[in-house]
Amino acid sequence: EKIRAAGEGEGRTVFSFEYFPPKTEEGVENLFERMDRMVAHNPTFCDITWGAGGSTADLTLDIANRMQNMICVETMMHLTCTNMPVEKINHALDTIKTNGIQNVLALRGDPPHGQDKFVQVAGGFACALDLVQHIRAKYGDYFGITVAGYPEAHPDVIQGEGGATLEAYSNDLAYLKRKVDAGADLIITQLFYDTDIFLKFVNDCRQIGITCPIVPGIMPINNYKGFLRMTGFCKTRIPPEITAALEPIKDNEEAVKAYGIHLGTEMCKKILAHGIKTLHLYTLNMEKSALAILMNLGLIEESKISRSLPWRRPTNVFRA
Ligand code: FAD
Repeated sequence: EKIRAAGEGEGRTVFSFEYFPPKTEEGVENLFERMDRMVAHNPTFCDITWGAGGSTADLTLDIANRMQNMICVETMMHLTCTNMPVEKINHALDTIKTNGIQNVLALRGDPPHGQDKFVQVAGGFACALDLVQHIRAKYGDYFGITVAGYPEAHPDVIQGEGGATLEAYSNDLAYLKRKVDAGADLIITQLFYDTDIFLKFVNDCRQIGITCPIVPGIMPINNYKGFLRMTGFCKTRIPPEITAALEPIKDNEEAVKAYGIHLGTEMCKKILAHGIKTLHLYTLNMEKSALAILMNLGLIEESKISRSLPWRRPTNVFRA
């Protein structure tokens, strides 16, 4: 089934989980076990990423198939279009169509490891807009199409500490509208840690006539180094109070995780208080933080969380 405006019209809050393809076979099996446990909490959908330049193509296709048909969760597959000939893109789309998957996150993609800039394959696509147009032209309405949105503008146009210029931000938004006008049904945002920036972005999108659901991408902080790496790569603004809270605990992994759960909960509370009914969790293939946040928000039942998970013990000082 195509993912509809999740929860819309029903007044309830819904959520989804994102995973990436693990590097080893054992990792893949562990992921399915974890997914199985997490799907018991009824996410609207789960999605699986596509390695840069198609580096995980076969594995992503296999995992997506198993998610849809064995885990039995509505599945969205990410698909990037640069560094990939059109035949490979069509092969991926045909495969998921055959497997009954109806949801695609259409992306440009980043350059593969070791390359600074992405390379447009001869006769291939240059940006996500090209891919959205291609999917609609070739497959009609079969697929529900999601695209990426950037509350702080795409990192390519962010220079220095001050973020994107107003002009760059406006151009980015106008381009996002073109992706939606070309047939995207849903926007999932890049991670952010300044909730006001996300809320302003939603407002700005509405002002220029983007009417589709805009789903906030929430990445719980699990680990200090990982957080710095991710926010550095995405050029994410880190509010000073977050830096101040993390600085004294950065070497204590458990404390960082607990803070990440606390922060994620507070961010989601604020977002939900503004009438947004959907949350997308970047799980990084881990269940603890994502489930703890949803539990704190009252969106999942504590009784459904496996008692064997060590973090159920009430050691979390930040728990609401
Ligand atoms: P596009 O929408 O094509 O464009 C990116 C930016 O470039 C635009 O915001 C705009 O500023 C500019 N731009 C591009 N074309 C034009 C144009 N014609 N006119 C004007 N401006 C233009 N990467 C992966 O490799 N695999 C994944 O699975 C993956 N999943 C992701 C999921 C989400 C929710 C997000 C937010 C990102 C994900 N990425 C993934 C990263 C993504 O591939 C990169 O951010 C990439 O640099 C841009 O992809 P995009 O689809 O946003 O690009």
